[in-house]
Amino acid sequence: MTTPFRKVALVTGASRGIGRAIALDLAQRGFDVALNDIARQADTLAETVREAEAFGGRAIALHADVSSKADVSSMVESLLAQFGRIDAVVNNAGILIAGPVETLTESSWDVVMDINAKGTFLVIQATLPAMKRQGYGRIVNIASIGGKHGAPEQAHYSASKAAVMGFTRVLAQELGSSGITANCICPGIILTDMGRVNLDDPEVQKIWRSKTAQDRIGAPEDVVGPVAFFCSDDSAFVTGQTLNVDGGIVFS
Ligand code: NAP
Repeated sequence: MTTPFRKVALVTGASRGIGRAIALDLAQRGFDVALNDIARQADTLAETVREAEAFGGRAIALHADVSSKADVSSMVESLLAQFGRIDAVVNNAGILIAGPVETLTESSWDVVMDINAKGTFLVIQATLPAMKRQGYGRIVNIASIGGKHGAPEQAHYSASKAAVMGFTRVLAQELGSSGITANCICPGIILTDMGRVNLDDPEVQKIWRSKTAQDRIGAPEDVVGPVAFFCSDDSAFVTGQTLNVDGGIVFS
């Protein structure tokens, strides 16, 4: 049976990297897409919106800082005014600031937690009423293998991603009877602007490559299939899970 409407997906941090790849893939799979990024990425986001429209559906740009409740509220208001529903939410916006615990500043800790962890919470809280009204929703939170095993100089980042996983498990339990699933993807080492923090040095890149079972670094496109699965009805009985998408670095 085909749905009488096109499903709508919100993807945060969608101008480039993993978010852009997810946005284009969902557009290609028949979703109308609402694409968020922070205002300073307006030009790049506009380009991604144009690329998404080329797949024949609707695509809109929504500028918002996901760590601001006011921004997130107006973003979701604008989304609903234009599309009327939200079927899938992909919380992808995130930042990484490297630094050892001993010298980590309070402001670095706060900004990483605010965007990665609180941002995920704020976007879900704002989109939940629409999904509950529909009795349907697919939540996909982008965590990281860093949230499972950590990495030196990424204390606040790893803590924020562990928070996203814990939050997702609670969502699964609170929303299970409302037709809403919530799952996490844990990317490994993916070549994006953020990934380059780990990959700029060819020697470091070689070490990371050798840590994977597949002996390769990932591309943003490696992440899109698992996200699409969690956004689809094929995963209707899967909730509260975290899936490593890392070419085989972490095995739990
Ligand atoms: P990226 O290339 O840095 O892209 C992230 C996007 O999010 C950027 O456009 C960024 O804008 C935007 N953003 C930052 N703060 C925001 C905010 N407050 N509100 C809205 N948008 C904001 O990163 P990526 O590598 O594609 O990573 C995407 C997600 O995957 C992140 O959650 C990341 O933690 C996760 N991840 C990545 C890797 C990896 O190896 N790349 C591994 C594991 C997990 P600005 O650049 O202007 O800040």
